[in-house]
Amino acid sequence: MAKMKVGVIGATGMVGQRFLTLLENHPYFEVTALVASPRSAGKTYEEALDGRWKMATPLPEKYKKMVIISSDAIDEVKALCSFVFCAVNLKKDEVKELEYAYAKAEIPVVSNNSAHRWTPDVPMVIPEINPEHLEVIAAQRARLGTKRGFIAVKPNCSIQAYVPELTPLRKYGIKEVVATTYQAISGAGKTFKEWPEMIDNIIPFIGGEEEKSEQEPLRVWGKVENGEIVKADDTVITTQCIRVPVTDGHTAAVFVKFENKPTKEQILEDWKNFRGLPQELGLPSAPAQFITYFEEENRPQAKLDRDIYGGMGVTAGRLREDAIYDYKFVGLSHNTLRGAAGGAVLIAELLYKQGYFD
Ligand code: NAP
Repeated sequence: MAKMKVGVIGATGMVGQRFLTLLENHPYFEVTALVASPRSAGKTYEEALDGRWKMATPLPEKYKKMVIISSDAIDEVKALCSFVFCAVNLKKDEVKELEYAYAKAEIPVVSNNSAHRWTPDVPMVIPEINPEHLEVIAAQRARLGTKRGFIAVKPNCSIQAYVPELTPLRKYGIKEVVATTYQAISGAGKTFKEWPEMIDNIIPFIGGEEEKSEQEPLRVWGKVENGEIVKADDTVITTQCIRVPVTDGHTAAVFVKFENKPTKEQILEDWKNFRGLPQELGLPSAPAQFITYFEEENRPQAKLDRDIYGGMGVTAGRLREDAIYDYKFVGLSHNTLRGAAGGAVLIAELLYKQGYFD
């Protein structure tokens, strides 16, 4: 079977590099267009990177001599691929405009950026949790006047350390959640070499992150109504988001209060049995087990556990009753894999299987 051709916009960035690594030998997709800013256009990928390769594995040979295309050369990109992944560091309005331009040119966009996360007819999906939100693509296409083109996005990396664990517990009525996230420096596109101030340090502020961490779960748990996503309104979430000296992996310390308090055994059973469409369809990036619970009281640990199932699994530990809330636990997920490029690749695999790229 011929592979589907794909472009990566923001190919030189941290998330873009993850995309290229994940797609190097992908069974459905083949990268045929590397796209970045006009500054990088015309250079080979290796030249444009100029030593900025940040992955632990070496830069794959096949990308080194590919020539970068400018993101505004949409016709050129369109001639080379059937859809694009997008992860760029532009202002929100500029990202919105860029992604609309590609969608309107009939190039589907699977995005890591936050610009369209609250556009009512743009699905924001964690494939195990809300795959049915992809339905709104029909309404979005009608609004944009496209046959093929659309935008689908993934939510913020921080929420993927606690929303997977909370989702199967919604049947008990989740009233309140308090989550503190301990976020890796790769979430800011940085390494310790580029951000030495983070060594031996904690920074108690990540711009815009707390709003995203409190609101985005409600949209993921929302319903499709008349071609739009209407966010859930039955849970209140409050968060503090803290930058910690960890390369990869966001950890969350979570307190939760229910309407009908389950037993600890019920929660562990719900986590063990939580499977979604990616597991049923056997999508290539789907983890065999979505949530893995550790009985050891010193787990999950970022360094030991972030790479579970290729960084696509989520881990949890320390589930116990609390004196003020009903329960507390710790969650962990890999922010640039499950939380960024890997999560977007999983969305694309689902879109592909469901015929949205036809
Ligand atoms: P990054 O390392 O700073 O890379 C930014 C990329 O954007 C580079 O490829 C850059 O290309 C490109 N770019 C800049 N201006 C452009 C333009 N006019 N047209 C096309 N491309 C342009 O950033 P990152 O960490 O990969 O993050 C990218 C996006 O993903 C951001 O929206 C971020 O919030 C989001 N995200 C990041 C993470 C994470 O864990 N890092 C997680 C989730 C979401 P040049 O090299 O040519 O400048």
